[in-house]
Amino acid sequence: MDIKSLTLEEIQERMADLGKAKYRALQVYKWVWQRGVTGFDEMTNISKSTREELAERFYIPFLELVSRKDSEDGTIKFVWGCADGSQIESVYIPDETRVTLCVSTQVGCAMACSFCLTGDLGLKRHLAASEIANQPLQVQALVGEESRISNLVLMGMGEPLHNLDNLVPALEVALDDEGMNFSHRKITVSTVGLVPQMTKLAEALPVNLAVSLNATTEEQRLEVMPITKRYSMQELLDACRDFPLPYSKRITFEYVMMAGFNDSMEDARRLAELMKGIRSKVNLIPYNENPDRDIKRPSPERVKAFQNHLVQQGIQCSVRVTRGKDISAACGQLGKA
Ligand code: SAH
Repeated sequence: MDIKSLTLEEIQERMADLGKAKYRALQVYKWVWQRGVTGFDEMTNISKSTREELAERFYIPFLELVSRKDSEDGTIKFVWGCADGSQIESVYIPDETRVTLCVSTQVGCAMACSFCLTGDLGLKRHLAASEIANQPLQVQALVGEESRISNLVLMGMGEPLHNLDNLVPALEVALDDEGMNFSHRKITVSTVGLVPQMTKLAEALPVNLAVSLNATTEEQRLEVMPITKRYSMQELLDACRDFPLPYSKRITFEYVMMAGFNDSMEDARRLAELMKGIRSKVNLIPYNENPDRDIKRPSPERVKAFQNHLVQQGIQCSVRVTRGKDISAACGQLGKA
């Protein structure tokens, strides 16, 4: 059995079955999630006989590092091999104020957003909880303790809320102070807008939510995001308006700007209207161009004018800086060889 798929409580139950004291489970859990051990024999505060018993029943899974590409801007793309041979990617993004890891949740993606290259793969499968949680654990071990990952964004390959059952236990380990000990303020789950799962996530965990809006009218969104057929933009925004936001959180709306499609001042005005009554901030993402799409990135002036309008309307609005473009690690480029 995969020990990384078990919560601390579940390990406690298994240890009790073996007639071991409860605190032993916490020791094992810390060895696994805080020290990242590869075998039970490394758990030196546990007796040899117990270690052997554990090794008979459990294994400690790891992703296999297939390649590492370093960008000139400091971004690093890690390509991992899973036990079944599929490949996933994580992107390490250091900047002046934080170190962010962009984590994948599925092999491929079922959402088929027309502008996104990951969508071309279709959905191969969901990642297991341990395959999600191993990404920060293993990247941290590879980059070393001098540069601690401070933020996790679930914005890699896949639709995180389509894999909620495995996402939640993975994030529990990430948040647990006996586990990887990330702050709930520094974990953001991004979604195309799977409305019922958004509420379920909020009920389970106090993490930040980001919604990829990418359009300002129903027709426009339908054109690029097929999920709009299932949950209309209106329904999505209503859910955001009523969203049970914990603490002083805001919902981030990601808005991929595509020249001549959704970058007009008319769009900026409509977007400002749509944000009314929602505790929101907007993150503009100038489109990352690629040979497989005919889509162009708007000029910096256009992006700035769009941002200025939102700011004038009292909306918090930032522009995402493109990172790791030279190593195909930028938004929408993952999974593309
Ligand atoms: N499925 C989730 C998680 C992936 S996040 C979601 O869609 O939110 C990936 C982000 O990159 C999304 O906001 C998506 O709209 C954006 N994106 C996709 N292709 C892009 C591209 N070529 N340039 C810029 N952003 C892109």
